[in-house]
Amino acid sequence: MPFRLDLLILITMTFMRFFCLLFSCLLLSAPLGAQPAPSQLDLAMSNVQLDKSLTSPAAFLGYPLGEWHLRHDQINYYLNTLASKSPRVSLDSAGFSHEAREQLTAVITSDKNQRNLTQILQQRSEAKQGLAQQGPLVIWLAYSIHGDEASGAHAALAFSYYLAASQEPWVKQLLEQAIVLITPSQNPDGFDRFATWANNHQGQTIVTDENHREHWQDWPTGRGNHYFADLNRDWLFLRHKESQGRVAFFHKWQPHYVGDFHEMWHSQSYFFQPGVVDRIYPLTPKANHELTEKLADFHRKALDEAKQVYFSGQLFDDFFYGKGSTYPDINGSVGVLFEQASARGQAQASANGTVTFQTAIANHFATSISSVQGALALKQALIDYQTAFFSDKQSKDPVRSKGRLIRALNDTARRDELINLFRLHQIQFNYLTKSLFHSGQEYRPIDSIFVADNQPQQALLSALFDKRTDFKDPTFYDISTWDIESALGLNVVPNVTPDIDVLTRRPMQYHQLNLKNTTAPPWPQNSVALMINWQQSPASGFVNQLMTKGVQVKFSNQEFSLKQTQNQQTIQQKFVAGSSQIPVKQTGKSIAEVRQLTWEAAIKWQVDVIATASSANFTGIDLGSDDFTTIKPVVPMIISGYGSDAFEVGEIWYYLDKKLSVPVSLVNAERINSLDLSRYTHVFMTEGNFSSMNDTSARKLGQFVQNGGVIIAQKAALTWLNKRNVLSQEVQTERYYHKLFNSDGLRFSDQAAFKAKQHIGGAIVNLTLDTSHPLTFGMPSTVAVMKNKPLAFETNSAPFTVAGQYQDQLLSSGYMAQEYQRAFANKPAMMVERKGKGAIVGLADNMMFRNIWLGSEKVYANALYFIQAAP
Ligand SMILES: [Zn+2]
Repeated sequence: MPFRLDLLILITMTFMRFFCLLFSCLLLSAPLGAQPAPSQLDLAMSNVQLDKSLTSPAAFLGYPLGEWHLRHDQINYYLNTLASKSPRVSLDSAGFSHEAREQLTAVITSDKNQRNLTQILQQRSEAKQGLAQQGPLVIWLAYSIHGDEASGAHAALAFSYYLAASQEPWVKQLLEQAIVLITPSQNPDGFDRFATWANNHQGQTIVTDENHREHWQDWPTGRGNHYFADLNRDWLFLRHKESQGRVAFFHKWQPHYVGDFHEMWHSQSYFFQPGVVDRIYPLTPKANHELTEKLADFHRKALDEAKQVYFSGQLFDDFFYGKGSTYPDINGSVGVLFEQASARGQAQASANGTVTFQTAIANHFATSISSVQGALALKQALIDYQTAFFSDKQSKDPVRSKGRLIRALNDTARRDELINLFRLHQIQFNYLTKSLFHSGQEYRPIDSIFVADNQPQQALLSALFDKRTDFKDPTFYDISTWDIESALGLNVVPNVTPDIDVLTRRPMQYHQLNLKNTTAPPWPQNSVALMINWQQSPASGFVNQLMTKGVQVKFSNQEFSLKQTQNQQTIQQKFVAGSSQIPVKQTGKSIAEVRQLTWEAAIKWQVDVIATASSANFTGIDLGSDDFTTIKPVVPMIISGYGSDAFEVGEIWYYLDKKLSVPVSLVNAERINSLDLSRYTHVFMTEGNFSSMNDTSARKLGQFVQNGGVIIAQKAALTWLNKRNVLSQEVQTERYYHKLFNSDGLRFSDQAAFKAKQHIGGAIVNLTLDTSHPLTFGMPSTVAVMKNKPLAFETNSAPFTVAGQYQDQLLSSGYMAQEYQRAFANKPAMMVERKGKGAIVGLADNMMFRNIWLGSEKVYANALYFIQAAP
């Protein structure tokens, strides 16, 4: 649609009338508990001609929207009601949350477009071809991905009703020309956690004191999902099912505009993008910034009319593509972030006066309207932008183009994690039909793939593998890098052009044993042991399942090889240190039983099991050697609650629960003093100040280790343990590192830049591992970790304790000040300190950062199985 000033004026006037009514009635809102007042929305709608057959949110709830915090099921029920009554509304689903709550989206458009949705979705699926687009504009408004930022979901419900019911000409025109997708609640589990908390502590009289429990959530807050994860950091790596469903939804609709609605600190005002200009990721096209700026005029006008002060161009950035407002920017859409000061409950006193939930809802409602109006006014520009975004990324013959050869060495499961990620992001790739060789390294069909550079998702692909270390502004709202090669521990050869006959779109049947198709364990009857190479990531879950069933599993303390016969040829089958041996002859179990249980576990975990007919080694050790140690069953617990870091606790929980199927207890820190720790084998401690634990807790933990327990501690937990003499190894922390920064000659106004330099938002650094140390078994000699805290061990370590150290030139990608790079170089980063019968495993970094660090998370399985009570 061409830009029409007369239409814009009409739209603005209608909106002003609607919005002013909504806003003014908020000031008059009746005290809670009085006779049910007419809904604020109903009042606001009183001047707008509405479809009376539709139920407003207030009529549906029986009280004004926002008087109590909505639960997710109420939102879904209301959307269903609306869809059943209005020909303008249908529903789409982005799947379920971990706790099985459905993620619904209202698809709102003219009834004519509703009837043509199949055709429109077909057109959307062709958008990435980069040809002239057909069909309506697609606007996606998505709210409350942080569950305790609830005003968004409430505004979304009001806005869904408004678009469904309004008979205003501009709304009719909008719905003829556009499809508006409204997803009210993007983090259903966190949303309900917060709603229950806020409602539980809301009285008849509003309490604005920030110390009131209503505004002071328990641990964990509603920000994260079931596993306490921040879903608004999960758009690239998709570790959570909420994100997987949402990204599939994104590509199904391939929207032109995405609004992402949040809340921020209660003493702030209102923010909308553009953010800080120098902190836009360089791969985002300039035309995207220009459109964001044009759209901002509509938000400015809407909020000015409401006398709501705001800011843009500061604080927030457009950098990390793992967020809801930036993922669209690297996928052909224009994403805009909105942030409203949070009441975190009904009303909260702030430096700017009282911030109320109702004002928050009204503000997000206002920018929802300015979003659709802005997008409609810029319709052609947004469509042209998307077409141009994809049109220059095509290749006539993608198979023949240059690309990346990618390998997850000897680990099909980790390679397949990458494949699943590519599928969800609609990145095209090829399997290999035979091995390729580069620099003396073999890239096998079983562990490698090829990804062509020239393809519609070229921009996202570049972003995933970006390793830059230079930035205009070294200030980062979140991590400064997310290189997938480092995170997944991949080997990547760029600029490869393989022969076409080496590539295939079909997965090959790789496993030596097609286990699912066998009716009985397929190994020869003369097998004496069943062997598993520890490089396979599911091996850790496989081993745990066998131990749970009472099967004896041993791990090797060194690498070895066995002689095998394959296709009548003798081959050398290599095993890394840490590899598992299941002797078929075991006390208390028949050979048939051992074979059966191993077979069942192998099917479940999809690991390759090698049967051997002899205990004799080809190189290294024989199978009866003392260098095979029996793994003991594990009973781990994680110290959680106040004082621990909910994100890191959630990550360890996710890993043990979902990837190893190990039952793990989350125990609040303040309960440690009254617990019997002897029933646990391992205690995990994350980042945190553990302020509710004291010297008694330290004595108990020290005794736990003396008696044979293992503490696995990372980041600030190490400082806590060292200060209380549980850990002897000295740790250098922020206080030490900050002294390395020189502020001489800086002006007062240089403070922010100075602090930004001292802050490690998240940079990827390389460690050199001692691969003969049990803590690193199955890992390569170099691993990359995400470093986001100034902390490392001092170099005066006791002999044979260090398992990994920072490299001399450690920075792999992202921003880290030179002062840090020099200070961390060659410092120990991973260690095991023996104490009495037990041990403390110390990690200077979180080696499973956000559960995306698949290349190094094995260290936690190693700590569970290989660092055990001394004999
Ligand atoms: Zn947020």
